Amino acid sequence: MLKKILLSENEIPKQWYNIVADMVNKPLPPLNPATKEVLSAEDLEPIFAKELIQQEMSQDRWIDIPEEVRELYKIWRPTPLVRATGLEKALGTPAHIYFKNESVSPIGSHKLNSALPQAYYNKKQGIKRLTTETGAGQWGAALSFASSVFKLDLEVYMVKVSYEQKPYRRMMMQTWGANVIASPSNKTESGRSILAKDPNNSGSLGIAISEAVEMAAKDPDTRYTLGSVLNHVSLHQTVIGLESEKQMEIAGEYPDIVVGCFGGGSNFSGISFPFLRHKIVDGKGIRIIASEPASCPKLSRGKFEYDFGDSVGLTPLLPMYTLGHDFQPADIHAGGLRYHGAGTIVSQLRKDGLIEVQAIPQLETFEAGQLFANTEGIIPAPESTHAIATVIREALKAKEEGVQKNILFCLSGHGLIDMTAYDQYLTGNMSNYKLTDEEISKTTDSLEKLV
Ligand SMILES: *Cc1c(COP(=O)(O)O)cnc(C)c1O
Repeated sequence: MLKKILLSENEIPKQWYNIVADMVNKPLPPLNPATKEVLSAEDLEPIFAKELIQQEMSQDRWIDIPEEVRELYKIWRPTPLVRATGLEKALGTPAHIYFKNESVSPIGSHKLNSALPQAYYNKKQGIKRLTTETGAGQWGAALSFASSVFKLDLEVYMVKVSYEQKPYRRMMMQTWGANVIASPSNKTESGRSILAKDPNNSGSLGIAISEAVEMAAKDPDTRYTLGSVLNHVSLHQTVIGLESEKQMEIAGEYPDIVVGCFGGGSNFSGISFPFLRHKIVDGKGIRIIASEPASCPKLSRGKFEYDFGDSVGLTPLLPMYTLGHDFQPADIHAGGLRYHGAGTIVSQLRKDGLIEVQAIPQLETFEAGQLFANTEGIIPAPESTHAIATVIREALKAKEEGVQKNILFCLSGHGLIDMTAYDQYLTGNMSNYKLTDEEISKTTDSLEKLV
């Protein structure tokens, strides 16, 4: 039995997989927030690169990966598929557990899979500068490296509280040459108006998005980029599942269950869509599980409505499972999972019953993360520990039922820059957060009924 299954560089996929082609019920279209009419590609052109807008709206099943991007993928792809034998043994489960190790990328997570093509298409169009926002800094770090290799200027609006409290990813971004700005800033109208009212405002992802979008919208040589939620981001991440498909074949097994942690949906889509295709097209009896924090449970307890992508209300209206754009999640350590909504494709798949969801309390995720670290050696990102917690639940269920199951999950990143979170867990200074139905109603009742 192989501990890990490696592919050669020429087996890096040549195309991304677009699941929209195989969906019976297509996702609903985004709407212009002012007119409530279906958004056109031209509406988005001041903000996003043209080729990315085309991918966002595409119904083609396969989309070619540019050779320049495949060349750069070679820095760390194909990533290993690893059999978690240590974890299996510790659990005493008959289940076979496999993980796709996306933590081996230079930035430590899957986000580079989309940052590289996004920078590439902007460069090809002649764009000079990119803007984006970042919370904990994972997306900002990925885009900093991608902008550096494609020689694009980059402005990253980083939530001020993270800028001050989580300096290491800021330093990574600066090492790759990005201009990192604490948000709210004095550079934009959005930032200035917030600082005028509240000079000590510590920032939010919503404010940072507003600043980054504003800077892109007012300069014809600048475009905005986003690291999750949108269809083209999920599309780029399918390299994860496409490689896994081949690697599972080499292992001589087929997954009964596929698991990914869930923030906006990009790594979950990446690992699962190529397998979901077998379920939709070939009727395979495969279970696909999204694992989200119990304190930010958009897929399990949110409403399916049109909502904004940011908290200020500048983005198009997207049809999504959402907790409302005003929802303020508890300050959990899995910063990448604290987003209020789910991407539109995943939302439709959820509505159609094609995927399952588990909401996991914070302490269970770190317990799972520590067990994984002690059995497989890798300290997982706080986000990834959600997937591991779900895998452990399913592996123990298999043990109870005495059935052999094959479980595949995406290890979206390592946690080496998130050690303060582990420190709080280890010193007993971490808690679960209860979220009442009333709290959820507060930010979802006011959503306009447009579905
Ligand atoms: C950003 C991030 C996530 C969450 O984003 P998705 O788009 O839902 O994948 C998960 N894990 C890691 C390591 C991240 O950096």
